Amino acid sequence: MSNPSRPNTPGHRKRHPSATVLIVGAGFAGLGTAIRLQQAGIRDIVILERAADVGGTWRDNQYPGAACDIPSNLYSYSFDQNPDWSRSFSGSAEIFEYIKAMVERFNLAQYIRFNQNVTDLAYDDQHGLWRASTESGEQFSARAAVMAHGPLSNPSYPDIAGIDRYQGHKIHSAAWDHDYDFRGKKVGVIGTGASAIQIIPELVKDAGKLTVFQRTPAWVMPRPDFETPQWQKQLFRRLPASQSALRKGLYLAHESMALAVIWDSPVTRLAERLGRWHLRHQVRDRWLRRQLTPDYRIGCKRILVSNDYYPALQQPNCKLITWPIARLCENGIRTVEGIEHQFDCIVFATGFDVSHSGTPFPVRGSGGRLLSEDWQRGAQAYKSVNVAGYPNLFLTFGPNSGPGHNSVLVYMESQIDYIVRGVKTILNRNLKSLAVRDSAQQAYNAGIQKRLARTNWNSGCKSWYLTEDGFNATMYPGFASQYARQMKELDLRDYVLTPP
Ligand SMILES: Cc1cc2nc3c(=O)[nH]c(=O)nc-3n(C[C@H](O)[C@H](O)[C@H](O)COP(=O)(O)OP(=O)(O)OC[C@H]3O[C@@H](n4cnc5c(N)ncnc54)[C@H](O)[C@@H]3O)c2cc1C
Repeated sequence: MSNPSRPNTPGHRKRHPSATVLIVGAGFAGLGTAIRLQQAGIRDIVILERAADVGGTWRDNQYPGAACDIPSNLYSYSFDQNPDWSRSFSGSAEIFEYIKAMVERFNLAQYIRFNQNVTDLAYDDQHGLWRASTESGEQFSARAAVMAHGPLSNPSYPDIAGIDRYQGHKIHSAAWDHDYDFRGKKVGVIGTGASAIQIIPELVKDAGKLTVFQRTPAWVMPRPDFETPQWQKQLFRRLPASQSALRKGLYLAHESMALAVIWDSPVTRLAERLGRWHLRHQVRDRWLRRQLTPDYRIGCKRILVSNDYYPALQQPNCKLITWPIARLCENGIRTVEGIEHQFDCIVFATGFDVSHSGTPFPVRGSGGRLLSEDWQRGAQAYKSVNVAGYPNLFLTFGPNSGPGHNSVLVYMESQIDYIVRGVKTILNRNLKSLAVRDSAQQAYNAGIQKRLARTNWNSGCKSWYLTEDGFNATMYPGFASQYARQMKELDLRDYVLTPP
């Protein structure tokens, strides 16, 4: 209980009464979990969010051109479809609005505690409670905890010599500076991944000179993006089944892409031909085309979609540099052949700190064991959701749950429903704890790693899917429908059930 006379030092934390479920993060995953728990009749929920607003990815990634690269009708929750998407691939602001409207529609604000940065999550064996400590000196506890902190929520800067020496303006794609005026400026962009190819076509319109630093060219596919006609919105509103049918069609179309993306098959060759055709069609200059041609199998890294990236690179004020960066200096970037490029501003489109084996804050399980130590040789979980030694703890977007070909939210829905089943089991059977067996986790992961060995992701290229030593703790080696099938069943034989 709170004691206002005590200071909020770690020793004297302000303690809140225990909840049934504690969720870390108010992005798509945390909010979706709260909705499904609520629909299952579980309303004693607390969501801890370190920022002052909901939305996660879509609150933070507001750079020019930011948009989803999976069609909105599939990149949204099936239980909260939006008939009013303005385009097939909606922009960041619209997705952010959708999330905020979802919070209102499902009355989620009551559960959220903003500005609560979780710094420690620990299991109290004696009481069967998870306790979350936050930076503000408060402590929240609950019978079950859900880590929905998002794997792409901490921007990462590249490990380049002299990065602190640069005196000009620096902007990371995930923390855009909307006040900076790019007009007429000399701008450098580091990175040519998913965010960069959305930013570059917008920046090239304003910047005096735009220089793009590429380490590895990506496979870029055409993007079937168009405005939603009014009649379609009306149809979706009057006949929601028609939107569900389109969603199903999009889902199946993306499922078929697994044959190109995940495994090396004749469909992979077809996809590569389409990628090469797109490049040939949009880039006339042979030398530039060569610089932009990937030398690795499609699917090995994230496939990008864009119609305006290649044209942007060919604007007179844009230049592509493929020499590796040697260092940052006071006024710009020096490449290995000794040329110094001077900039007013450098944009870091360099992605996120994807902790393959670490955790975003210390997570202490049964007997005080540390999750970061258990994951030292690679993150592992059972069905990507539970970890042996961490009773009543659930993960969203956990190890080996990433898709390369379909909407993350499709996977997330399966995880969330699994979590709700787990929490209901704890409550209905009045358990102190539900703990996955180590043997079940080992067997599950042996299967996952064996299947991963045959995928394009493990075929030899370097990507953020793999750790430095090549361990893949990120991707799920199968169709989304396979994943959904495995998540349908909570097999209690794989768990130890402890009564109070
Ligand atoms: C630019 C971009 C575009 C993307 N486009 C697509 C797409 O088109 N299709 C697709 O399938 N996927 C896409 N993704 C992947 C995307 O991350 C997921 O689809 C989804 O948004 C993840 O939701 P989440 O709730 O798991 O994480 P997030 O949205 O990152 O939310 C996590 C929340 O947890 C909070 N948090 C983190 N740490 C703490 C802490 N210690 N204490 C308290 N709160 C904390 C964060 O502030 C954040 O609000 C994209 C990702 C990015 C970055």
